[in-house]
Amino acid sequence: MASVMNQPAKSPVAISATKLLINNRWINSASGKTFATVNPSTGEEICQVAEADAPDVEQAVRAARAAFDRGPWRKTMASERGRLLNKLADLIEKHADELAALEALDNGKPLAVAKAVDVAATVGCFRYFAGWADKVHGKTIPIDGDFFCYTRMEPVGVVGQIIPWNFPMLMAAWKLAPALATGNTVVMKPAEQTPLSALRIGELIVEAGFPEGVVNLLPGYGPTAGAAIANHMDVDKVAFTGSTEVGHLIMEAAAKSNLKRVTLELGGKSPNIVFADTDIDEAVEGAHFGLFFNHGQCCCAGSRVFVEEKIYDKFVEKSGARAKRRTVGDPFDPKTDQGPQVDSAQFDKVMGYIDSGRTQGAKLVCGGDRVGERGYFIQPTVFADVKDDMKIAQEEIFGPVMSIIPFKSADEVVDRANNTTYGLAAAVWTRDISKAHSIANSVRAGTVWVNCYNVLDTRAPFGGFKQSGIGRELGEYGLQQYTEIKTVTVKL
Ligand code: NAP
Ligand code: MG
Repeated sequence: MASVMNQPAKSPVAISATKLLINNRWINSASGKTFATVNPSTGEEICQVAEADAPDVEQAVRAARAAFDRGPWRKTMASERGRLLNKLADLIEKHADELAALEALDNGKPLAVAKAVDVAATVGCFRYFAGWADKVHGKTIPIDGDFFCYTRMEPVGVVGQIIPWNFPMLMAAWKLAPALATGNTVVMKPAEQTPLSALRIGELIVEAGFPEGVVNLLPGYGPTAGAAIANHMDVDKVAFTGSTEVGHLIMEAAAKSNLKRVTLELGGKSPNIVFADTDIDEAVEGAHFGLFFNHGQCCCAGSRVFVEEKIYDKFVEKSGARAKRRTVGDPFDPKTDQGPQVDSAQFDKVMGYIDSGRTQGAKLVCGGDRVGERGYFIQPTVFADVKDDMKIAQEEIFGPVMSIIPFKSADEVVDRANNTTYGLAAAVWTRDISKAHSIANSVRAGTVWVNCYNVLDTRAPFGGFKQSGIGRELGEYGLQQYTEIKTVTVKL
């Protein structure tokens, strides 16, 4: 077990892992530096965590390289990789309450949600990819001539993974599970705001029996540790989830170093299109969930709610009333729907967007202020009469701020929905099956939901068109991003 640095006496959950994990050992950073991870409900420090930088990345990449090139991982049977992933899933399930509490403490999401969504989906993700471990295989190909030609699906190698703070444990699972199932080794940097759950999973990875160097965890900052991973000549692939702005930097680093493979899961400004022929109450509830889930901190948040004119006023009224019923407060209180935003920077950013909505003339239906005096709580906020060119309709807010925008016709709304640099997700609400399919086909987004929102499943691919990303995560397509195809041709 890792020893803990400066853990406060009163914590709702024991914290055991706060150091770097390299070669299955918990160590301090080379510089000896640490940073505070903060409880967003109070703004107070939870504990100090070791701060990785370039020398630690160097050491972790060497460990991952050795495990991949020479170490036991390369020789580990595919079925054994599956067994280890299943064992890890069992351990995560066994520690579900503790992991959910860590997530609620470090990220601020409600404990019940952390358990029912984040932990449950994390377990499901590891189990799903465990099943794939011994089912990834090539083909035989009837090429011309007297040859035997076949393909092999090989691991890419050492994979750098940089993850965000909005679903700290689940984003770690989305990246670790397919990488390990296909035989890669990993150097991962959790987000600086929320390192604790990934580090605890690191302990469970060691307990499950993964060999040395297969998974290395480096808490630290993006511009230092993150950039060192993206620039490293011995990292074969980098998988990143976060802002589009940093996505550009990751790709630039890959281009300037060794052309490492890049997959990116970036931001969004997803349209949620509500037609008048839908069940209005279901659509109001769906739009509410589509935007306010996880405090609006979802890359696929339905942040542009387009509503057909005929039902616009009613929809706005009902959406405002629904948002007012959302309870904001302590993540450990079972009555809480919404906890704090993740940190003071995100709090300020979201409040800035609320100000801009007001100044640019959108109609504030409800919310608009902070909740309480401490922590980073924000009222569920609904703006109506939002115009397409307002900042709140253009930029990713990543907070509990809904923009409701009127539209007249199906043709017009598709053009307006697509008028964005993003293309992560979209939804349409209608009883007309032809209209639903027509919109699903015309919207340029990686995921389209019909009469539902935020239905993500580990078996179905997820990722973005346009500047919402490159590549897919989850499902069989997600698995393919962690393999290289090798063609072998034998003269007969
Ligand atoms: P971010 O900077 O893109 O952070 C995501 C991850 O990238 C973190 O681990 C971060 O490290 C790391 N990173 C930052 N700069 C880097 C660099 N130069 N090289 C390599 N890695 C780097 O996002 P953020 O600042 O936390 O949030 C800003 C906005 O990004 C949000 O408001 C939201 O719009 C968007 N976002 C999107 C998602 C998503 O799921 N697509 C998730 C989070 C945020 P640190 O720990 O130092 O930050
Ligand atoms: Mg924190």
